[in-house]
Amino acid sequence: MAESPDSLSARDSAAGAQGARLEPRSAGYCVMCDRIVERTGTGACPAGHPPAAVAGHIALGDGEPVPALGRFNLAAFLVPPIWGPFHGQWASAIFLPLWVFADSVIASAAGRGAAGLAGAVFVGVVTLGIQAFFAKRANGVAWRRVAARVSVEEFSRRERAWAVAAIPLGLLIVGWATYYRVVLAG
Ligand SMILES: [Zn+2]
Repeated sequence: MAESPDSLSARDSAAGAQGARLEPRSAGYCVMCDRIVERTGTGACPAGHPPAAVAGHIALGDGEPVPALGRFNLAAFLVPPIWGPFHGQWASAIFLPLWVFADSVIASAAGRGAAGLAGAVFVGVVTLGIQAFFAKRANGVAWRRVAARVSVEEFSRRERAWAVAAIPLGLLIVGWATYYRVVLAG
């Protein structure tokens, strides 16, 4: 994965070089910024969010850039009701009834003309939109939970494995739903 050079943190470390010996650099995930930030001297987020909003303690060496979490979790997008419980996010089970609802709307659209089609597209787009929103927040929320024992690198490696597994898993679910509707129920 590409490590983008962070000119901001480079400037900060240059400016804070004097205090570096007394104040080791530390980074954490700011839930309000939704990204990993370098703590200020008081442990707060540089954007002004309180220390309580920043989770995890990543020790940074001199000139070391602040690590970044991926902006989008593919597994959380494709298979949220499976990915979620494995990451302590049980609320993602809500995607199961959501999928059942979307499936029934899409299936019943056949033979209902333009209105049926529009309804199916609308429900499909809204469902995927909610999944995309969930996937955008997924890495931050999941890493925050394990920040004390899992490094960002280790977390990112695990999530890449999840992404690889999620593609066939997602296809299997869509394939099964299609088979069920077209062959068994149709
Ligand atoms: Zn912040």
